[in-house]
Amino acid sequence: MDLKIKINSLEGFSEEDTHLLYKALRLQESILNSQEFKQRWLQAKPKHNKGFSQLQIYNQIMKGQSRFEEIVDYELDYFLRKYKLKRGTLASTAMSTGVIVINLLQFNYWKKLENGHVYLSSCLFHEALHSQHGFTHPWFPPSWKRRSVPYIGGNIVRELGEQVVRGRKLTSVKG
Ligand SMILES: [Zn+2]
Repeated sequence: MDLKIKINSLEGFSEEDTHLLYKALRLQESILNSQEFKQRWLQAKPKHNKGFSQLQIYNQIMKGQSRFEEIVDYELDYFLRKYKLKRGTLASTAMSTGVIVINLLQFNYWKKLENGHVYLSSCLFHEALHSQHGFTHPWFPPSWKRRSVPYIGGNIVRELGEQVVRGRKLTSVKG
């Protein structure tokens, strides 16, 4: 079963905004279902992983098992809101509801870039690892923050996304 990305709620996005959003999420879906993502994910050694192995986390993601539902539905759920946050913040997740707020300043900047969907896709996957899977970043030691599960996931999506826009074809994990 492939993992499907599902948008459950959208607030504050114009119709034009949704074009960038859907493009980013289509890219993310193809990356998550790729052999290349699996390989990169399993090689990573994050800090602060709640005691799970990379394989366990991978299986949770790919089965769509979130902290809000026990069922295996092969869906990665998004609850999204576009709203103004302070400059420099990309996005923020409300851990109690799982709603991800994307900074409209950042979103509008990405809209102007040729490959803005790659950065949006990376940012959203980072936030999904907070929102749906409950991973956080440690603040101490400071070097661990960027080695946490959300950063590692977001970085892999960004790097593979950059390769896809340059023409790399990904191999589906299901063959
Ligand atoms: Zn984060």
